[in-house]
Amino acid sequence: MAVRKTSSSEEISQDVGGQTVSVLLPLPLARTYDYFCRDESVAQPGAFVRVPLGNRWTEGVIWRNGGNNVHGIRLKAVGERLPAPPMTATARHFIEWVAAYTMTLPGAILRMAMSVPEALYPPPTVTCFEIADDLPHFRKTAARLAIIDQVRTAPLLSATDLARGAGCSPGVVFGLADAGVLRRVEITPTPPPRPRPETGSVNLSGDQQATAERLCNAVCQSAFGVFMLDGVTGSGKTEVYFEAVAAALLRGRQVLVLLPEIALSQQWRQRFNARFGAPAVEWHSDLTRATRREAWQAVANGSARVVVGARSALFLPFRELGLLVVDEEHDAAYKQEEGVIYNARDMAVVRAQFDKIPAVLVSATPSLETLTNAKRGRYTALRLTRRHAGAALPAVSIIDLRAANMPAGRWLSETMVKAVEETLGKNEQAMLYLNRRGYAPLTLCRACGHRLGCPQCSTWLVEHRLVNRLQCHHCGYSMTPPGICPSCRAEDNLTACGPGVERLAEEVDTLFPTARIAIAASDTLQSPKAAAAMIRRLETGETDIVVGTQIVAKGHHFPMLTLVGVIDADIGLGGGDLRAAERTYQMLHQVSGRAGRADRPGRVAIQTYLPDHPVIAALANGDRESFIRLESESREAARMPPFGRLAAVIVSGTDEPAVDRAAASLGRTAPHAGDTRVFGPAPAPLALLRGRHRRRLLLHAARDVAVQKRIAAWLGRARIPHGVRIQIDIDPYSFF
Ligand code: ADP
Ligand code: ZN
Repeated sequence: MAVRKTSSSEEISQDVGGQTVSVLLPLPLARTYDYFCRDESVAQPGAFVRVPLGNRWTEGVIWRNGGNNVHGIRLKAVGERLPAPPMTATARHFIEWVAAYTMTLPGAILRMAMSVPEALYPPPTVTCFEIADDLPHFRKTAARLAIIDQVRTAPLLSATDLARGAGCSPGVVFGLADAGVLRRVEITPTPPPRPRPETGSVNLSGDQQATAERLCNAVCQSAFGVFMLDGVTGSGKTEVYFEAVAAALLRGRQVLVLLPEIALSQQWRQRFNARFGAPAVEWHSDLTRATRREAWQAVANGSARVVVGARSALFLPFRELGLLVVDEEHDAAYKQEEGVIYNARDMAVVRAQFDKIPAVLVSATPSLETLTNAKRGRYTALRLTRRHAGAALPAVSIIDLRAANMPAGRWLSETMVKAVEETLGKNEQAMLYLNRRGYAPLTLCRACGHRLGCPQCSTWLVEHRLVNRLQCHHCGYSMTPPGICPSCRAEDNLTACGPGVERLAEEVDTLFPTARIAIAASDTLQSPKAAAAMIRRLETGETDIVVGTQIVAKGHHFPMLTLVGVIDADIGLGGGDLRAAERTYQMLHQVSGRAGRADRPGRVAIQTYLPDHPVIAALANGDRESFIRLESESREAARMPPFGRLAAVIVSGTDEPAVDRAAASLGRTAPHAGDTRVFGPAPAPLALLRGRHRRRLLLHAARDVAVQKRIAAWLGRARIPHGVRIQIDIDPYSFF
């Protein structure tokens, strides 16, 4: 839409020379806006520009030359061209493709690619500090001396960095500068150090070498191809893909490695450092804005050679990407569920196709989608079947809780207790895995049976005893635990039901009073620093037992950890989730892989009430193939993904009757062709989320159906009342 006529002097009629351009703005708008470019040299597709929008200015990208052919409207002029290198045609096509696939507005995708607009401008200088030549007399405090120490060992750091290193506040640095002890120096950010491909390479085994060569050849051919790197934990997958990274660096190409849980990837970063002599550039939401700006600019100007990032790193402005790695490709964290709903693993494959480069999907438990693609020959399967240096895979035993006669309020069976005792007796470490944060997942009134729920969501409040709160894990609502039941007013009758890691740790503490116990959950390890410290204590043997959620399951390697105890293997198996069995298998396999990775053999003990469930049986027998075959057959029979397609349409709003009416009307007009069916509307499993009522329609189609077209036609006919929102989730993962 062109900006309408106002009295602004910026408006120029189209007949004075120059040209019209379409500009995409990083805003949820349906299409590009037309602007006028006086200077032909600015009118370059891909150029980042500043343009007037209403009564403000905003950044955008010239999407193409020529406008939307809206006649008779005076266009506003493009303000200035920004110094950032223009967005490549490939990147623009990728954005359009993702928008079309996810049925999102292109501007919303562009916003992910322009998440730090200040990066489009020249980098600001940073004020750093060095010691003054003539030291005046000054008051010496411990903090001040620590800062001076920092400046002496690492000159030219910012106040924030110095303060962090010395463990005090940046104010101390400014105080010293004002006292004339430190001198301010303005510097421009230095480019990140370059990883060196030849630095710390290891001697690969025969299998590893052969696999690495396949990947390196693909990198050198610079052609699109997808590789599934499938290998048991500890088989050297990381070492192998590091060789492909090295090959890309040698060819002068950039590399992107996606990790599902970047803030907890301390060990990965250390290994990268050891292998390449310099860190990879990080990209994730825990970074400061300034760091993100620097990273964005370094990617755009090519000084960042290897980026390790979360999902959104896919939208960074790489200029010469040569390799894309998706580590732990099966991980559900790759699915973004808020805002733009997309699966970064799948979009990574698309990006690789646009960039004509290889993509490597790495996992010890590849997703059924990836396995099926490999089976169909669309992906190349590369397998590593042995652990490095002959380390044995852990022995898995099943503890049948039906026979264990567990007393109320106890979660560790006798067999499990004995296993922990034996482990501690050998001065080894144990990991007890329970994928539940907090103290108890439910609080119940013994007098009336009332359960404490979230007022804004259809969920129970989870007790977090360490911080004395009841919390909703969906919307963040929290309250102090009440003394009386809110329903029947009975006093002191509220009781915790079921265990979370905090409660489990309490039991472990009573059973093993001398053991050093750590709790590892996303809320107890709030910063990457806290997570790193927890990991370090495990590495150095300062922790004997770690009680943790899935965050301990991922990628870490602890030489003295020989027992993994799974407290409740059944947690993920219930519910209507299509991938419940697959995910439980992946998670339990992954956490099992933490046991015994070095010279000490490991073992895994799994507590379950469902010892005959195919997932548990597969874990017990180490028989992944039969499990996958079974899972694959049942999905194929039901024509479920990856043998069919799903798309969810979520109708939500605060006015429940309006939501119901809209959902019912969509239900009546739903497309029911031979190859397409729509189920619902039904309350979404979380029928109330953050105060919004939610109904879901689920479209099921044959694999070759372009579901986006069907949905577009269907929703295009619908009249959605004001205040009711429609969200589309193509290939839904979580059914919440
Ligand atoms: P995966 O990624 O498959 O879990 P890793 O690459 O992390 O496996 O390897 C597991 C451990 O074995 C790591 O500590 C790694 O450094 C080591 N390792 C693997 N292959 C070799 C090798 N060829 N030479 C030396 N160490 C190796
Ligand atoms: Zn809530």
